[in-house]
Amino acid sequence: SSLVIAVDGTSGSGKSSTSRGVAERLGLRYLDTGAMFRAMTWWLLREGIDVRDAAVVAAAAHRPRIESGTDPLAPTITVDGVDVSVEIRSHEVTAAVSPVSAVPEVRARLLQLQREVIGEGGIVVEGRDIGSVVWPQAEVKVYLSAEPDARAERRSAEQGGTDVASTQQSLLERDRIDSGRATAPLTMAEGAVHVDSTHLTLVEVIDRIVGLTGH
Ligand code: C5P
Repeated sequence: SSLVIAVDGTSGSGKSSTSRGVAERLGLRYLDTGAMFRAMTWWLLREGIDVRDAAVVAAAAHRPRIESGTDPLAPTITVDGVDVSVEIRSHEVTAAVSPVSAVPEVRARLLQLQREVIGEGGIVVEGRDIGSVVWPQAEVKVYLSAEPDARAERRSAEQGGTDVASTQQSLLERDRIDSGRATAPLTMAEGAVHVDSTHLTLVEVIDRIVGLTGH
């Protein structure tokens, strides 16, 4: 299958579970572009690079070799051959990823990697700008959202029960930076179908997206 499904939306809207579920159901590959931005951020921090210094980040962005494994049942992300799937979810990386993602050279570098993977076809891709910038020709585009309370509760459950209020604050802060930045702000792509997951179960959201493909 050459089908490309773009799933964009805010943090905690259920993008990852939903995208993996759709990929599994339809026998497609899965790409988590947020993990690529997190991997870049993890590498910058490890190199001791000041992530708030956009010029330095821009100059370093070509250096790490970032590779994504696209099995929806066991997605992986490696930096220079080392699996960093766990490390990229740390609080430190989460706190630094939005400013890193706003640097145009970072986006350009990862865009190229994303298009290489997507170009082989048959894939569900989750992110912020997939339907608008990375792959506007996607056959199916979804904009997934959920109300802040629902998002914070899900994210804190995912993280093993972190404080809901502070999780919500961190989500809203990332939303603010992600939607306000000049480079690739989070917006609903032309032709995207808006799915609000607040009052839907995971299976209901997956069913709805699978339905959009005509399967
Ligand atoms: O999806 P996730 O929360 O893991 O994404 C982490 C961060 O990566 C986002 O807050 C955003 O700053 C950035 N991102 C992006 N464009 C994408 C995917 C993620 O800017 N396509």
